[in-house]
Amino acid sequence: MPLPLPTSLTPSKVAAFKDCALAFRFSVIDGLPEPPSAPAVKGTLVHRALQLLLEEPAAARTPDAAEACLARARVELATDPEFAGLGLDAEAEAAFAAEAGVLVRRYFQLEDPRHIDPVGLELKLEVQVGSLTLRGIIDRLERDEHGGLVVTDYKTGRVPPVIAEQQRLGGVHFYAYLCEQVYRERPSRIQLLYLSEPVAIMAYPSEQSIRGLQQRTTAIWRAVERACEREDFRPRTSRLCEWCAFQAYCPAFGGDPTRAAPDLLASQAS
Ligand code: SF4
Repeated sequence: MPLPLPTSLTPSKVAAFKDCALAFRFSVIDGLPEPPSAPAVKGTLVHRALQLLLEEPAAARTPDAAEACLARARVELATDPEFAGLGLDAEAEAAFAAEAGVLVRRYFQLEDPRHIDPVGLELKLEVQVGSLTLRGIIDRLERDEHGGLVVTDYKTGRVPPVIAEQQRLGGVHFYAYLCEQVYRERPSRIQLLYLSEPVAIMAYPSEQSIRGLQQRTTAIWRAVERACEREDFRPRTSRLCEWCAFQAYCPAFGGDPTRAAPDLLASQAS
């Protein structure tokens, strides 16, 4: 029997399918839970702190204000189940907060937030393409000094090697496409702000890049449809396997994928 198709595609789902179709199936189709990861939760904390900072009046967006925003974001995060799921003791929590603080301070080496003119923060965009919904949350959309739209995505992980830059930019090209569809205006620039180095990687959407994004997204969607139709999601081993929550069900690691759905049902019933 064909597997149910996902109802929407996001940049992270596209990347997940390309990384490993089987892990995509476990996560997106079967809905297997994944344990929270400290880097991901730290990313959430830093994103929220920068959102709060950019919500301040322009002149008030100072490093001291950023520290205060990070403190507010930490209070909010304290009740988040993902954060609680990390099970950090006091020492690990202090290290976690200190690392987030470093990332927020490094942000100021990339730009002066007093000169940013946000159009939207954590902006949810959605576009219907036939029966498929494309969705994305843009960290920041702003106007540059010439009035053009700029899509900004904060990254709290490591800077990719040059060879992988275009792949990482795929997500922001996806956002550029959503912007163009929703606002009827193509962004003049898209940028990834890597806070860990800190480094900014930029690209300039064009007719060709938007068309390329549409073609790649359509190809991925067709591949997902085919895989669902044939129930054929293959494992693709890589360095990501080291952190994969589904190894126990992965044939590449001696697991049985057919056990995943019954185990999930059993855990939900208990
Ligand atoms: S362990 Fe590796 S190959 Fe297996 S599902 Fe996870 S990412 Fe894919």
